[in-house]
Amino acid sequence: MATVVYKPSSIDFEKPGKHHYQVGFHLDSSWGYSLVPLTVINGLREPGKVDRPPGVAVFGGTHGNEWEGQVAVKRLSQDLDAAEISGLVILMPQLSESACVANQRVSPLDGVNMNRAFPGNARGTISYRIADFVKTFVFRRVGVILDLHSGGNEAVFPLCTSFHPIPDPEQRAEIAEVACLFDTPFVMIYSNQMASGLLTDEAEADGKVAIGGEFGFAEGISRKGLLHAYEGVKNVLRHYMMLSEEVVKIDPSRPSRPRFIKAENLEDYIPCPKDGVWEPTVEVGTDVKKGDLIGRLHEFSDYPMQATEVRAHRSGVLSTMHFSAISKKGATLFVIAEESQP
Ligand SMILES: [Zn+2]
Repeated sequence: MATVVYKPSSIDFEKPGKHHYQVGFHLDSSWGYSLVPLTVINGLREPGKVDRPPGVAVFGGTHGNEWEGQVAVKRLSQDLDAAEISGLVILMPQLSESACVANQRVSPLDGVNMNRAFPGNARGTISYRIADFVKTFVFRRVGVILDLHSGGNEAVFPLCTSFHPIPDPEQRAEIAEVACLFDTPFVMIYSNQMASGLLTDEAEADGKVAIGGEFGFAEGISRKGLLHAYEGVKNVLRHYMMLSEEVVKIDPSRPSRPRFIKAENLEDYIPCPKDGVWEPTVEVGTDVKKGDLIGRLHEFSDYPMQATEVRAHRSGVLSTMHFSAISKKGATLFVIAEESQP
């Protein structure tokens, strides 16, 4: 059973062994709590002759309708054995618990997107208070932060891990190395101009090894995505010798290492020119050339009218595609990324 705690300061993050909690965050406008699951593992295995393990925190359910991360982190909270671990592992499978229960991107309690709520606010609405808890009680205890996402209803991605442009070369190199441990076909370097308040933004700014990832889409569970998420986290623990095992190749059918691509400029995030029905004509993860047809935008109000063809504005890798058929003017239709250095 998980212990319910009402004051984060009452959680003993140094207690040896594995302990499950539900952290109660009181609701903003009615009596009750969002009970956010948390597992803290202080490994019982001696670290051996390596440096002190960095501590790893793993988040699922930052967006409630993205399921691979929630299930991967929940399974890890059961499967990881404190006797086999050295160092600290913190697992939060449903960070925006109210959004997860509702199968929504944002919390229905305050309408806030948890992945725009960082660094949080101890006096804010519930999502800001949860973000503040993460920043205050979790981030400072760990060196590595993993936030497992998928496309939800927003977009289709190829399986990838991700990070933002990192100015510090040492931090950048370690992040790139850890991002490869999930053995996804792509590692994506995103623009940090599209949004602010991200969990990983905050962690990167704190100097952490912070990795995001997209492990599926469409509010389902991709078997392959779940495997990469689950085994990828274990590979991170193996890499830092927090688990005494060799790093494994997750997808033996793909001999190559992950391919690094970057989409750092907003010019490569193409907005939908008008409301319509979006028919994609290219799979995500495909190499495209400037001028290639990426999709057609249909209007049914005047149905004999020709669809609007939308073509690649540049050559590169199609790294994101609008998910739903109904597309609104201004929504990102697709992203074309370019090859990058590992
Ligand atoms: Zn997400």
